[in-house]
Order: sequence, then structure tokens, then C-alpha cells
Amino acid sequence: MQTITLKLELRKPTKEKVSMFQKMTKVNTAFSNWLLDFEGLQTATSKVFHLYSDEPFPSAIVNQTIRTVKSKKKNQKAKVFRRLWCGFNNQNFRVEKENGLYKVSFPTLNKRIGVPVVCKEHQQRWLDRLLSGGAKQGATELYEKRGRWFVAVTLSFEVKQKQADPPKIMGIDIGLRQLAVASIGTTSLFFSGNEMAYRRRRFAARRRKLGNAKKLDAIRKSKNKESEWMKNTNHKISRQIVDFALENGVHLIRMEDLTGIRHSRKSKKEAGRNLHSWSHYQLQQFIEYKAKIAGLLVQYVDPKYTSMTCKCGHTDKHNRNKDSFLCVKCGYLSHADVNASINIAKAISGLSTTKIV
Ligand SMILES: [Zn+2]
Repeated sequence: MQTITLKLELRKPTKEKVSMFQKMTKVNTAFSNWLLDFEGLQTATSKVFHLYSDEPFPSAIVNQTIRTVKSKKKNQKAKVFRRLWCGFNNQNFRVEKENGLYKVSFPTLNKRIGVPVVCKEHQQRWLDRLLSGGAKQGATELYEKRGRWFVAVTLSFEVKQKQADPPKIMGIDIGLRQLAVASIGTTSLFFSGNEMAYRRRRFAARRRKLGNAKKLDAIRKSKNKESEWMKNTNHKISRQIVDFALENGVHLIRMEDLTGIRHSRKSKKEAGRNLHSWSHYQLQQFIEYKAKIAGLLVQYVDPKYTSMTCKCGHTDKHNRNKDSFLCVKCGYLSHADVNASINIAKAISGLSTTKIV
């Protein structure tokens, strides 16, 4: 069983609705904090809300909040909820489709409402899958981000795992000059890092200018814009990589476990590197996520020697010089990242012992 979360934006909710959503969140947060200290929490039912307040509040949300508070109290000893968004279970939250448009309905303070949602193409595919019974709906949350209101709908579904013995393996090397190189045997797919480097230099240059002028708000906006752009780029790359794997009948994807590398690198350019590492991490996450949904296995390998080992078995740091790989022992010549991705596919230093999927 796999799970995904669809974040659907509510299409232009009226001012009245927005202020009601805000009020619901406020009441729910205060109620959750009251519940934290409530002695009867373990056996509480939706009726418990009347002990807290005389105001009307949907029992569907109360039930979900009781469940959340119970599990948070047990797992992380929550002392206080800064904010608890209203949640619904699958019986109280419904997705509907009318004339090709999608809407959601859920209970609010005084009545059930239906709200149209903004749907991207891939989200429509998931909602159609849900409506046709190909996925099961789990819990939903109503939340706000930068002034826009969304519902996060959890879906779970069966995935048919692709298998073969031995499996067909794709190795992916992730880096800077090439954002990613994916190899299946000797067939490779390249994603150049030139554009990303260029765009990020421009973002940085603009922020330096703004920094001199102390325009903090504009700097923050620029940072958000950059990370949005990077996220979109990573989504596109990961989509293409997983499609490439599917087109070529791959069963298993291998990537390097970069966790150790990420924490040990210290340099003057550390800030920049951290952002790179963060982007690399995000790209791996997206690949892993899309691969699993498609029924592909994912494994992480120990990154040791993947970039300096030749197919003849000789390991030497002089084998690699920037983009090119030239074995000092046998003379084998290759693109450095292609060579690395092939070594990753082979897991030459074994599987990661820390990052296990
Ligand atoms: Zn060699």
C-alpha cells in the first residue's frame, strides 16, 4: 500500500468563508490545548466539546482532533499546539466531480459546504482514480499557506511491484555540473546543471544588491522564488528519470546515500553547498517518491569510491578529472558521471547501512 497527499487549493473562497476557516482553526487550536490537559482524554468522545464550549463545532472535526491530540501526546509529549488545522476523516470529507469540475465538501461551523478546487493535471488523474474506486481516501486537513486555503487529502492505493531476478537496475549520480546522470547498463540520460547554476547565480546577485539596500522583505521573496523554482525543476527532472526507467523496463533504482557527505563538507562556500545539498536531497526524495508509486524498488548505496573506480576494478582518485574519467591502469575512458552512475547501479561499495527504504 502506498500513500500520497494531494494539496488542492480552494478556488476563490469568499471573504465570509475565509474568516470562518480562520475561526474554525482558532477554535480547534484552543480546544486541542484544552484537551491536552483534559484528564478524560483517553476515553473522550465528540461530546467532550460541550465541556469546553457552548459554541457549535462539527463533531467530525472534534473526533479527528481527539485522535490527533492523543497520538501527539503519546509520541512527542506535545506541551502546546501553536496551531492545529481542522481535520476530517474519509466519511466527513467528500470529493465530487460535476461537469468536469472538481469540488470538495466538508462540515463547517453551521453547515456542510461545497467548494470548488483548483486542480493540476496530475491531481485530476489522482482524483479520478479516487472517484473510480482505484484509491482509498484517508484523513484530510484544511490549512492556509501565504494567504491561500488548501485541503490536503491523503490517498492510499495498491502498487504492483515490478520484479525480476535478476532485476534491471538504473543507477543515478547526482551532482553539480550534471544535476543528474541516470544509467541503465551503458544507456544514459543527462541533466546538465548549467542552467541551474546560471539561474542561481542571478538570484544570488540580485539578493546581494538588495542586501546593500537592506530590502529584507524583497530578499525573503527572492529566496522563496528561488526555492520554488528549484522545486519545480526537481519535479520535472525526477518525472523524466522515472519515465526513462519505466520505458526501459527497470525494476530497481539505486542512488547514493549522501547523508554523510552532506554533513561533513565544510568550506568557505558552505552556505552555497548546503543549498546545493538540500536541492540534491530534494531531487532524490522526488525520484524515490515517484519511483515507489510506479512500483519500482529504490535502494541507497554507500557512495565510497563510486566516482574513482574503474570497471576493471582499479580505484584511484587520479582516475577522475572533472568531467572525464580515464583509468590510470587500463586506459578506460568515460564520462565521469556516467562511470559513477554505473558504479552506483552496481553498488560497488555495498548498500547504505543508514538509509534504508
Ligand atoms: Zn581500469
